[in-house]
Amino acid sequence: MSAPAPSGSISVGPDRAGRTVHVHQGRVSAHPAPGAPVLACPDDLIEAGAVNAHTHLYSGLAPLGLPALDPAPTCFLEILERRWWRMDRALTPDSLRAAARLYLAEALLAGTTGLVDHHESPSMIEGSLDVLAAAFEELGARGLLTYGATERNGGPDEAAAGLAECRRFAVQNRSPRLRALVGLHAGFTVSDETIRAAAALCGALGLPLHVHVAEDGHDVTDARDRRHAGPLERLLALGALPPGSVLAHGVHLTHAQVTLASARRCWLVHNPRSNEGNGVGFAANLGASDRVALGTDGWPAEMIAERNAAVRLGLSRDEADRRLSHGHALLAGAFLATPAPWSPGAPGDLVVRRGSAVLHVVVDGRLVVKDGHLVHADLDEIRAAARAAAPLLWAAMARL
Ligand SMILES: [Zn+2]
Repeated sequence: MSAPAPSGSISVGPDRAGRTVHVHQGRVSAHPAPGAPVLACPDDLIEAGAVNAHTHLYSGLAPLGLPALDPAPTCFLEILERRWWRMDRALTPDSLRAAARLYLAEALLAGTTGLVDHHESPSMIEGSLDVLAAAFEELGARGLLTYGATERNGGPDEAAAGLAECRRFAVQNRSPRLRALVGLHAGFTVSDETIRAAAALCGALGLPLHVHVAEDGHDVTDARDRRHAGPLERLLALGALPPGSVLAHGVHLTHAQVTLASARRCWLVHNPRSNEGNGVGFAANLGASDRVALGTDGWPAEMIAERNAAVRLGLSRDEADRRLSHGHALLAGAFLATPAPWSPGAPGDLVVRRGSAVLHVVVDGRLVVKDGHLVHADLDEIRAAARAAAPLLWAAMARL
């Protein structure tokens, strides 16, 4: 991979509300950086770039005609086994690259500047995070990358390879816009030994874990069968949840378990559209924590749509807005940055909107969308590459 671009400096504003945001070497600053470009936006409004706190770039081609399951799945495990666990095995570097570029391009154009990705590609584990990182670097987005180690295809060796990929990327990454997390797929596809290995890696690298927890009742039953109160308690008992760990879903956590996750300084990520689509239920107890962010779990990274879905499904507007804004703190923690978007030391990630339309996007002090167009890539070419890759991926899935 070529050397990552350095962080940028820019001043944006004043906007319609009189706000000006200075970014110096990638971080918000109280003062303009000497010689930094100025992007005036007197008719528009500056807002913080949105954060998608749990997603899967590898599924980025799904909107381009992923065939429906026939016969229709009868449970969540079937959706995993027949769709997503087939797609991840069918991925090649070309299809993963096409999916990641399309997903990130559309994310930036929707005003989403930071993405917490959870990746799996069992047929090509080593180097897979570099494919994702190259797409982030090309387009200029900010991200947390992890490989979700699992034993579901190749047993303990597969899990070891997944954790090794997390380690390799964490050690080799030089991008100021990317950080690694240690990853597990979910408790129900790994042994205690793999969870202990993930815990040891978290300790060695000083990194938190990113894992699916209690997305479906199956994860809870599995943990109980292993004589734990639940999947959260199992991960905690094995030492795998350092503060800052990212727990996706928590649909089937009790109020007391959500409180426990909060006390252990873990983040929970609510993915309302995905949960509804998969029929796993609504994560009704997440309100017991004040550390809940919003993710799309592979759905397009339009965070306003995700926020609106949360409201439609029963969340108050204030709570939905709070969860959306918590993504900033989750992401900033991984970069040792100030969590409040407009404070000095916060990540220099912002969006200029004209009405509801995204006009400009700045990430890490670098302009990555200008006048509604990607600065560093050609959207038409990205879409054409994705349209070419998608049917090949569907065909490869059908052969598995
Ligand atoms: Zn997920």
